[in-house]
Amino acid sequence: MSKSFCYAGHLIDGTGSPARKSALLCMENGLISSLEFHAPEDLPRVLPPLSGAPVQSYPDCTILPGLIDSHVHLAMSGKTDPELRAEQLRNGFEQNRPLIAERIRQSLGCGIMALRDGGDAGGHALEYVRANPRSSVQVKCAGRGWRARGRYGKIIGREPLEGLTLAESIAADRPGGDHVKILNSGINSLTEFGRETAPQFDREQLRAAFAQAKKQGKKIMVHANGTLPVEFAIEAGCDSIEHGFFMGEENLRKMADKQIFWVPTAVTMKALLAQSKVAARILETQLDQMRRARALGVPIASGTDAGSFGVRHGQALVEEFKLMVQAGFSIEETICGATRTGARLLGLDHELGLLRPGMPASFLVVPGPPSELPGSLISLKSVFIRGMKSGMS
Ligand SMILES: [Zn+2]
Repeated sequence: MSKSFCYAGHLIDGTGSPARKSALLCMENGLISSLEFHAPEDLPRVLPPLSGAPVQSYPDCTILPGLIDSHVHLAMSGKTDPELRAEQLRNGFEQNRPLIAERIRQSLGCGIMALRDGGDAGGHALEYVRANPRSSVQVKCAGRGWRARGRYGKIIGREPLEGLTLAESIAADRPGGDHVKILNSGINSLTEFGRETAPQFDREQLRAAFAQAKKQGKKIMVHANGTLPVEFAIEAGCDSIEHGFFMGEENLRKMADKQIFWVPTAVTMKALLAQSKVAARILETQLDQMRRARALGVPIASGTDAGSFGVRHGQALVEEFKLMVQAGFSIEETICGATRTGARLLGLDHELGLLRPGMPASFLVVPGPPSELPGSLISLKSVFIRGMKSGMS
């Protein structure tokens, strides 16, 4: 592929540092070969030596790395009608196949280039991705998650196999998913503020299970709300805490120390505001925890839990961004959660997450300056994947 250039009025590089003006990005063979910053008045001087290579110019736009939603359920829709929600759980793989494809398309339409799936009872997202490995959106899947006998999580996980421990069940599940999903608490009560549920697995069960997952080279994502369920998961050495409502200050400190990722999925609670008075208080508490996590240096990866009640694939990430901004993150730090941090969590940091020389030229063009983000993501102007423009307008 020949050389081409992209000029943008503003650039967010994915590291969390402030946006820079007047970026000139050179693309060769799908990679960024150079990134320079020139004032617009200098361009006529800089561009002629470029030997006629095409320049795509977006002086009134911002470019940023392709986004990552670190927590979705592709086998489910964000519909709110209870009957439809129950009905979709009965879908077979053949029914889910086109729906999963459509949700991946919707995600790309919002600038999402990678997804981390948190599991479904049938393992359909994993089955889809195994059958369609060459999608322009990279999807990492848990397959089916694991829950303790009789505990929460039937729609995304299964119980350990008959007569086997959790660790033995993970060992028997070959090849299994890209990562291991474990449920270690219930869900938030919408009637009683802050009610905590007991851990699903004890410390020893988790330690043995995580050791088994690591032996297979897999990361561990743990659904956990409340102090003890989160504490057990952190101490057993999980890679990420999903949701983490009411986990408390002590757990946040441990996560900062061990650099364990947190995926707060605050948008799930925003989606429940009309359902319950308690939801608003829970959301406020979660935003406070996010504020503390920022101060402590916990790595936050943006994830939406798309597919849960009222959480729509693609657009929910923009809502999650708004909540991060509300919790005090700058727009660049917010974007970092869905770029560099997400890429590290998914193990895709050589492909996505940063705009710098040597990285693939995979980025988004949104109208206006960075101050119009995250809302401007809704009117994406262009998407470049490995230097190839896939027009959104
Ligand atoms: Zn989930």
